[in-house]
Amino acid sequence: MTLGSLMSPQPVRKVMAIVSNSPLLKHGLFYSCPHSTSLNQTHRFALSMGSRLFQRRSFVVAASSAFANQNCEYVIVGGGNAAGYAARTFVEHGMADGRLCIVSKEAHAPYERPALTKAYLFPLDKKPARLPGFHTCVGSGGERQTPDWYKEKGIEMLHEDPVTSIDFETQTLATTSGRLLKYGTLIIATGCTATRFPDKIGGNLPGVHYIRDIADADSLIASLAKARKVVVVGGGYIGMEVAAAAVGWKLDITIIFPENHLLQRLFTPSLAKRYEKLYEENGVKFLKGVAIKNLETGSDGHVAAIKLEDGSTIEADTIIIGIGAKPAVGPFERVGLNTTVGGIQVDGQFRTSIPGIFAIGDVAAFPLKIYDRVARVEHVDHARRSAQHCVKALLGAQTHTYDYLPYFYSRVFEYEGSPRKVWWQFFGDNVGEVIEIGNFDPKVATFWIDSGKLKGVLVESGSPEEFQLLPKLARSQPSIDKTKLQNASSVEEAIAIAQTSLHE
Ligand SMILES: Cc1cc2nc3c(=O)[nH]c(=O)nc-3n(C[C@H](O)[C@H](O)[C@H](O)COP(=O)(O)OP(=O)(O)OC[C@H]3O[C@@H](n4cnc5c(N)ncnc54)[C@H](O)[C@@H]3O)c2cc1C
Repeated sequence: MTLGSLMSPQPVRKVMAIVSNSPLLKHGLFYSCPHSTSLNQTHRFALSMGSRLFQRRSFVVAASSAFANQNCEYVIVGGGNAAGYAARTFVEHGMADGRLCIVSKEAHAPYERPALTKAYLFPLDKKPARLPGFHTCVGSGGERQTPDWYKEKGIEMLHEDPVTSIDFETQTLATTSGRLLKYGTLIIATGCTATRFPDKIGGNLPGVHYIRDIADADSLIASLAKARKVVVVGGGYIGMEVAAAAVGWKLDITIIFPENHLLQRLFTPSLAKRYEKLYEENGVKFLKGVAIKNLETGSDGHVAAIKLEDGSTIEADTIIIGIGAKPAVGPFERVGLNTTVGGIQVDGQFRTSIPGIFAIGDVAAFPLKIYDRVARVEHVDHARRSAQHCVKALLGAQTHTYDYLPYFYSRVFEYEGSPRKVWWQFFGDNVGEVIEIGNFDPKVATFWIDSGKLKGVLVESGSPEEFQLLPKLARSQPSIDKTKLQNASSVEEAIAIAQTSLHE
């Protein structure tokens, strides 16, 4: 197996949305849901409601579990970014208290995951972020939802107990510990799992790291504290962010990847060149266009080197692999997957093909209305917005279709004493011709223009006002005078030209 085959990006074809037409479900199959209500009690409530759907279904749950069976009106599976924002929306609508349960694989209450490759990895003497500092929803200026917040709001949190199976007929989830949890409405928010190198090429050796959750980040920090030679595999977001963080630890760092430049999915070659130069100025080395054969151990069984397909080896005592992620569909495959972009197929209200079951965040394949195609978006902004949209829709508080504008960002080299902080934002679609303005000193702007219309825009080191303008430009897709834009002498002037085009 080569690195190239493991790192080949998921083909993202533009396809028409194929969505479930399931009718908007009446929410609340259960009248109320005190914690750990017995099924009999709920059964009585339900029968008294006379719900047709409810009566159709059996409520006999196998009593083999050591746990008391539980039921809950609303269940979220997954305790990540989207779950935290969904919980907040249930609270805002007065529908959380005693009715909502979150089943999570992790030990912590939902947190803003992007922090894990940013402030969480700051050197220990540079005030790294730690919980409870970055629980959701601080990333969007919201309340910090600590474990106490969930208690106060009457939300039941089940930690370190992943869901292993689902029975649609009885609307029952089973967890690793043997718990059986009956739901009225289910939201799947299981996110993604990091793509791993297979065991047989050394993907699980001591010293090899993947980064998806706090436990992963803690294990990486323990390695960085004693590392000398670090190799980052992958030139995407994770690779770029981890390498920048490792610079702060003053380590010998090499980034290797099979493509010919950083962040191939978004950056143009010339934009990538500017970021690569910045990394090189910080002592980071690059090995591009290479394929990995396997990872090798030293005499102590710890990883010691990476062997490339061309027979050469690179010494490394710490390896971080950031080669992408896969939607965590696990027990929910039968809910209906999208075969083009992966993940669970939903419609513009996040309804799956099964009544009463919704999917949000990274795991959801949803109609990206603005570009008339189905997409899965592995970014925090979508996790937040999809969660809010889905909960409002299922509570009947809104009926319009989700209309997402793709937005990606990254922030690196932000620790105290860093010579140059990096913060870029991108909105829209990176299609068509490209015009790049600015010298990366520190600003640069890249515009994507298709059929004379502005489709996407990326700005590095923008002012708050400039960053605020970008979504307006990308959503409006104004016709733009290319020659005028090309001749702009600064990023500020280019942005002003684009802004004027909004009103022409
Ligand atoms: C290190 C890192 C850095 C990132 N940086 C950025 C960034 O800079 N900008 C950006 O826009 N996006 C970034 N992202 C992406 C962003 O964090 C995700 O898009 C976002 O977290 C998705 O939210 P989610 O709730 O769908 O999934 P997650 O936040 O991943 O949450 C999923 C949760 O479900 C749990 N789970 C999985 N299976 C089960 C199961 N069977 N039972 C119970 N629980 C289960 C998982 O353990 C996890 O807690 C980053 C991601 C990572 C990993």
